[in-house]
Amino acid sequence: MERPNAWKTYKKTELKKVEQLGEAYKQFIDHGKTERECVRESVRMLEEAGYIPLEKAVADGKKLKAGDKVYASIMNKAVLTFLLGKKPLEEGMNIVGAHIDSPRLDLKQNPLYEDSDFAMADTHYYGGIKHYQWVAREMALHGVAAKKDGTVVDLVIGEKEDDPVVGVTDLLIHLSQEQMKKNLKEAIDGEKLDLILGGKPLEGEEKEPVKAQLLKILKDRYGIEEEDLLSAEIEVVPAGKARDFGLDRSMIMGYGHDDRVCAFAELKAILNLKGIPESTCCGMLVDKEEIGSVGATGMRANFLENAVAEILALMGEYSELKLRRALRNSRMLSCDVSAGYDPLYASAFEKKNAAFLGRGVCFNKYTGSRGKGGSNDANAEYLGRLRKIMDEGKVCWQTAELGRVDLGGGGTIAYICALYGMEVIDSGVAVLNMHAPMEIISKADLYEAAKAYQVFMENA
Ligand code: MN
Ligand code: MN
Repeated sequence: MERPNAWKTYKKTELKKVEQLGEAYKQFIDHGKTERECVRESVRMLEEAGYIPLEKAVADGKKLKAGDKVYASIMNKAVLTFLLGKKPLEEGMNIVGAHIDSPRLDLKQNPLYEDSDFAMADTHYYGGIKHYQWVAREMALHGVAAKKDGTVVDLVIGEKEDDPVVGVTDLLIHLSQEQMKKNLKEAIDGEKLDLILGGKPLEGEEKEPVKAQLLKILKDRYGIEEEDLLSAEIEVVPAGKARDFGLDRSMIMGYGHDDRVCAFAELKAILNLKGIPESTCCGMLVDKEEIGSVGATGMRANFLENAVAEILALMGEYSELKLRRALRNSRMLSCDVSAGYDPLYASAFEKKNAAFLGRGVCFNKYTGSRGKGGSNDANAEYLGRLRKIMDEGKVCWQTAELGRVDLGGGGTIAYICALYGMEVIDSGVAVLNMHAPMEIISKADLYEAAKAYQVFMENA
């Protein structure tokens, strides 16, 4: 039952492909540190490959047929792709879905204040983080500010080599006797994850001169006024690029592997599809998974059925019944990262059912916590079919649970898609340091995930 290490199976040509995919992936996450940036990168890649916006196809009344490629951007924070297959849509699609939001700190709506000659910004963290991991490190600002005139200003500060960085401070060890007695959960207060943004007063300014200096910089460089921050989405993320990890360069350390590693594997798989597939291949890159898949850009919204309805209509096939059948008859891989086995924290895992870095793409029949609560549970029959597809496609794969029974748990978008009645299973890449500012994956697992997602779309 032990699964083989993928690295052992590679010959020279394949090792080169693993390396190339790793390089392309590092570029992707360096340019995709927010869900909006990921959508922009994805749309660029999709348009290069001949995908057209669904919105435009609808506006033009374009007749869609097998072989056509369309994508739908959902408020620039999620994107759906469709490569139309030979079989009628009501026979179902082969769907791969990942999420492109990652844990981070967000600026509050009214963030700025001055204290002790510092210009500071209040934040509210997003997703599940261990607060103590996000202090005393270099951070960058990525986001948008929407102005009253309708223009949207893009902003990235802290990524270029000569850019300044910002960050949250920690208390010096010399004065930490009280802090060090607290437990990890309470040592750093979530409300005190505030950024230092500046420390130089503006000449001739009496009231809050350091904050005034900061506002002048924002105004001069970006045309942003303080009030524009009321309608801004500015995310504070680890600054710097993803890098090879380990002296053998077998791994990648970077921000946001959860879940951009699956998102990228999915994109690569979609772009690798050749010719007209049997079944329609659908890709979903969605937002808000880390906070419960809420809102118009999270999986609980109706964008999938809306897009499929539009496509059916453009194929001259629309009916409510056909839409329901298209969704119910679909097969899906819910692509999300899995907890990689960590020998330093061995007791958190049950070794026979843990995901190991380097042993290929993971399949999680179920997730959830305390007796599988909140989980999707993939059907045995479906898993049986997938084993055949993966083995015939020569994919290196493993099965896993998220840690030891009763220790914790987590969920994905799987259970939401399963509500349509489709077959869904969780599948993804094992990660070390999950939800830390810098996470670690194996290049082999990225490669096997991309391969798995492609053979799934071709054969499910
Ligand atoms: Mn995830
Ligand atoms: Mn997560």
